[in-house]
Amino acid sequence: MVSVKYENIGVAYGDFIVVENFNLEIPHGTITTLLGPSGCGKTTVLRALAGFVEPFEGNVFIGDDNVTLLPPQKRNTAMIFQNYALWPHLTIFKNVEYGLKLRENEELAALKSPWYSRFLWVTKPYYFFLGKTHNKTIEYLEEAKEEYCSKNGGVFTGLKWYTFIGFRWLKALSKGIDHYVREKKEKIDPKWTYRREKVFEALRLVHLEDQAFKNPTQLSGGQQQRIALSRSLVVEPDVLLCDEPLSNLDAKLRKELRTEIRSIIKSIGMTTVYVTHDQTEALAISDRIAVFNIGFIEQYGTPTEVFTDPHTLFVGQFIGVSSTLVGKIIKPNTVQLAGGELINLKVKTDIPIGEEVSLVIRPENVNLTTKSDSPIEIEVNTIEYLGTEVKMTGKLKDDTILLLDVVEQAEEYAKIKVGTKLKSYIDSAEIFVFVGDKRIY
Ligand code: ATP
Repeated sequence: MVSVKYENIGVAYGDFIVVENFNLEIPHGTITTLLGPSGCGKTTVLRALAGFVEPFEGNVFIGDDNVTLLPPQKRNTAMIFQNYALWPHLTIFKNVEYGLKLRENEELAALKSPWYSRFLWVTKPYYFFLGKTHNKTIEYLEEAKEEYCSKNGGVFTGLKWYTFIGFRWLKALSKGIDHYVREKKEKIDPKWTYRREKVFEALRLVHLEDQAFKNPTQLSGGQQQRIALSRSLVVEPDVLLCDEPLSNLDAKLRKELRTEIRSIIKSIGMTTVYVTHDQTEALAISDRIAVFNIGFIEQYGTPTEVFTDPHTLFVGQFIGVSSTLVGKIIKPNTVQLAGGELINLKVKTDIPIGEEVSLVIRPENVNLTTKSDSPIEIEVNTIEYLGTEVKMTGKLKDDTILLLDVVEQAEEYAKIKVGTKLKSYIDSAEIFVFVGDKRIY
């Protein structure tokens, strides 16, 4: 079942056409990522779905509904932005509640408040004070009771007894006021309890129910983005739109949060369109990835498909870390690089002799060796020891850079000096071969 469909859409800003004849189908319940370099048009495509830009041609469908000309508020979508877009002066509860309120606005406007609603603020200071001191009061009472009993052999009378009773009375009063406020609020706004439950349900999803009455500025960036997620989920949109939601966070938090966001979204099965230029994030979070080049999709598939089977040179270079070596076919299964090194391919190609090819090679498929028949000499250019592995770059004869990940004997290789000459071997089964932009093997 398709949840979102772009059908031949074209979007332009003035005379500048960003996408034309653009087609994409997003299956229901999937997290689909629009991945591509900066400026390629992924945000524009997302905005066309939200209704923030209007296509000059084509149609956008959400489910079976053609929403192309609907204004944003009439589409059941919710969006998470890079900068969280939270109200700093409202509590987290109110931030999350805001979307629900907006949707109920027309209904609420029709409700007439009773006369006493304007005096309800009088109860607020009591409610605020007693609510805040409640836990402390109980703690104090328990301590006082224990201390008193231990000194007086379990007899519980005197001043502290009165204190105890006094506080119990305050507690009862606090509960009473709480009850009163709720009852009155219900009368003024019958959806108040419903909204309260919905908001807490959404906050529980992101594990922030305990922080509901803090202000967003009192929380970390990661927590603020979780509030934004909660605020989007609370309105139960047909499609959740995420525009680079993790870009403002540091690397560690980004990694943690992407796992968390994926598990939350998957747990409720919401169709999600996610925009990022970070390919690692896209691989980790998505069910499907649309790899964008300037204004069009190069490849659309699962993370494994785009990683292990890139159809074009652009995708091969963009997804994963890789080196690109350019050479000429000199035998059906041999490529000669510009510096004269020979690289064996796994299969005999039918690419004409003399044709120029690009070889895309991932660093994990380059090994340092002393045994290979056809080693490639590299001159160590940079070296980074990362604990479990060494990330190295080596120069070939024509100064092309080859990336290597050394996992075995990482500590030994970490001591190697820049400029050292080493022999390397490329696993021929793992080389992607391109003629022009098209993958051949
Ligand atoms: P990024 O990752 O940097 O946000 P993107 O892939 O999301 O990039 P878009 O924001 O969709 O790219 O922009 C696509 C092109 O449209 C860019 O060349 C950009 O300069 C241009 N563009 C975006 N918004 C506007 C606008 N409001 N007016 C004019 N041109 C715009």
